[in-house]
Amino acid sequence: MSGFVEKPEPVEVPGLVHLHTGKVRDLYRTESGELVMVASDRMSAYDWVLPTEIPDKGRVLTQLSLWWFERLADLVSHHVLTTELPPGAPADWAGRTLICRSLEMLPVECVARGYLTGSGLAEYRQTRTVCGLALPEGLTDGSELPSPIFTPAAKAEVGEHDENVSYEEVARAVGAETAHRLRQATLAVYSRGREIARERGIILADTKFEFGFDGEDLVLADEVLTPDSSRFWPADQWQPGRPQPSFDKQYVRDWLSSPESGWDRHGQLPPPELPPAVVEQTRARYIEAYERITGLHWA
Ligand code: ATP
Ligand code: MG
Repeated sequence: MSGFVEKPEPVEVPGLVHLHTGKVRDLYRTESGELVMVASDRMSAYDWVLPTEIPDKGRVLTQLSLWWFERLADLVSHHVLTTELPPGAPADWAGRTLICRSLEMLPVECVARGYLTGSGLAEYRQTRTVCGLALPEGLTDGSELPSPIFTPAAKAEVGEHDENVSYEEVARAVGAETAHRLRQATLAVYSRGREIARERGIILADTKFEFGFDGEDLVLADEVLTPDSSRFWPADQWQPGRPQPSFDKQYVRDWLSSPESGWDRHGQLPPPELPPAVVEQTRARYIEAYERITGLHWA
């Protein structure tokens, strides 16, 4: 089992049609057809939405995405139109709401990896490949790859696990030309992000993007280069051959899989509430990622 322990009721706002409650975001449509994306403080891990929220997480993800969208705009167009709240929206949507172009989303999680860990490492250990791409011998947990690779995944339903797929499968699903554009844009945005993060003492180990079409225009959507969509490692502590310390949800994953949580992630029961200290540590990591990357102080 997985998914929501209890799916939240959508907030009703006059003039907005509720479209979807995602693991983290709530989607609405305005009367003029724009998409309203409201990031909540919900946290997902191991395909579950956890029963405990992380205060400020929605605002951190939204503000960090905005910061990146601006710095990537010369590489790829993005979906944000404005951050102005729709009339009648609750005041607490401020800072975590984006009004976006409503796109024809592509059913591909566009993952770029510059370092080997997680599901990439697991596949490498079995076959010396990631998403069918052959890699050199001798790589270990946290190794830098000879060059960044595009390792797409098929987007799963809530509660299902995204599945790594080959480039050929992507080409079959979306067409050869679109697959080529996705790979090119994914690697270009990853490389820019990695360079900027590195200047700030952070290794962008891997990340996931989502793209959609607005007519012929291929547009970067969703969130970008956040601790939910990326692995951020403090560069000064990077040491291949072990799991790396990180500014992302790895801390929560580690707690959930520790004996302290008392939870069996392969069992039938939903994950437990997070203790206040784990909530605070997680919040601090998200804020540290924001502050380090942007150089701004989290108000
Ligand atoms: P899902 O809810 O599909 O299981 P998720 O848990 O990642 O995925 P959230 O991140 O909570 O979902 O919600 C964001 C949703 O909005 C995703 O389904 C994403 O594909 C979609 N989305 C993001 N940007 C746009 C856009 N500009 N137009 C249409 N859909 C978008
Ligand atoms: Mg998402």
